[in-house]
Amino acid sequence: MRLRNVKGSRETIAANEFVIQDEESMKGKWHEKFGNNNPIHIEIGMGKGRFIMDMARLHPEINFVGIEKFSSVLVRAIEKQNEEKLPNLFFIRMEAEYIENVFDKEEVDYIYLNFSDPWPKDRHAKRRLTSVQFLSKYINILAKGAGITFKTDNRPLFDFSLEQIDEAGWVKENVTFDLHNSEYAEGNVMTEYEQRFSDMGNPICRVVFHP
Ligand code: SAM
Repeated sequence: MRLRNVKGSRETIAANEFVIQDEESMKGKWHEKFGNNNPIHIEIGMGKGRFIMDMARLHPEINFVGIEKFSSVLVRAIEKQNEEKLPNLFFIRMEAEYIENVFDKEEVDYIYLNFSDPWPKDRHAKRRLTSVQFLSKYINILAKGAGITFKTDNRPLFDFSLEQIDEAGWVKENVTFDLHNSEYAEGNVMTEYEQRFSDMGNPICRVVFHP
């Protein structure tokens, strides 16, 4: 993602009611924060938040937490949430590597990984959000029966991810190399990147998987 330094974004985030400021203190307390026992779904690397805001609007019966490491991107989602004030949506500015410090065992009911950064160099493979290193973190926060959806237009990253899912011994529920022209297209909620890449004619790959 091309990043512009958005002036004042850190200050905006620090003062915003929809951003969790001390995320590690929330571990084990997310249902308390939402004030209900609804399932908790998270998107890791949510960018400007189009997908998670659409999901939160469509599913008031689900609690959503959007995670993004860059302030200059997160601030765009905050601007939208300031207007809408969806009660079932909070954001965290953090690096996903520390996810186990923020969610307790079985606290998360679903993870969305949408158009994750590809980290094309082999020596950076473990930074990919679908690497076995990350899967071994996710397993510590996912509830029984919970799963993950991963979408990308990047075929090498997708192929790598399928291998990593197998290597971790997880189960693939369904795989498509052209989501928009597949039986799974109905009900698909587009992300910002998905819109951009499908407008360019790129097929979208998607896998649903679980431990
Ligand atoms: N999910 C959005 C979409 O599909 O439109 C944004 C996709 S963008 C290519 C990837 C986003 O993930 C970027 O905003 C990036 O900053 C964020 N990201 C990548 N690695 C991350 C990590 N380790 N922790 C938190 N955010 C991350």
